[in-house]
Amino acid sequence: MSFKVELDMNIKIILTFLIAVTMSGCASLGSYNAATGRQELIFISTPQEVAMGQTVHKQITATEKLSKDSELIARVNRIGKKVASASDRQDYQYHFYVIEKNEINAYTVPGGGIYIYTGLLNELKSDDEIAAVLGHEIGHCAARHTVKKFQAALGYDFLSEIVLSKVDQQMQQLAAMGSGAVMTLVTSAYSRSDEYQADQLGLKYMRRAGYDLNGMVKSFEVLAKEGGGGSTPLILRTHPYIADRIKAVKEEIAKSHN
Ligand SMILES: [Zn+2]
Repeated sequence: MSFKVELDMNIKIILTFLIAVTMSGCASLGSYNAATGRQELIFISTPQEVAMGQTVHKQITATEKLSKDSELIARVNRIGKKVASASDRQDYQYHFYVIEKNEINAYTVPGGGIYIYTGLLNELKSDDEIAAVLGHEIGHCAARHTVKKFQAALGYDFLSEIVLSKVDQQMQQLAAMGSGAVMTLVTSAYSRSDEYQADQLGLKYMRRAGYDLNGMVKSFEVLAKEGGGGSTPLILRTHPYIADRIKAVKEEIAKSHN
């Protein structure tokens, strides 16, 4: 998308938002993000984000198979909930899903849904390593990276419906996109700065929840090793810059020991 088109779209969105604010008498433009410590212009409210997550979940489970391994599901939920309880963002519930597929993959969707594949879980040895992968995803949720990614990709019509709170139309539109398009959006890459921030938040939540921070380095080394074999694991498509991130995380851990 060209800069001009993007600029025009932002102006249109802001105008629509201002009209909606005037009509509804609601005065808050932007909201404080506890994870990033910044004011941010996110148009999608938490209830709208949760509704989006439910629609996206239907599309994911239309193509991917949820695991029936109750022991593994319980383990992922135990670790995930422990780390999530340390998250800066507590205005929705986190949900953890295990997908039965031999793929090195994990991602998050709007509304706090976090998906991890058995192919990745088979490579992660300790609870600390699983906590690191889930903590990183929780970091993306807490900093609203996922909803920001969706907001940027969905376009003007969708956002104007969001702003005007036409929830049913939004969800119909999202459902009409089909699982392929939604999966492409779910598995599109985050920016480098969002990746670093999710790592930092993940480490913070791991520390608060009592996990060994070195689990993050180990989990990244698993991904880097898998990435060395020719085919790139899907998780690296969503979460790139792994070599730089290993270095940054090691520095962050060293700092926390001082
Ligand atoms: Zn990431």
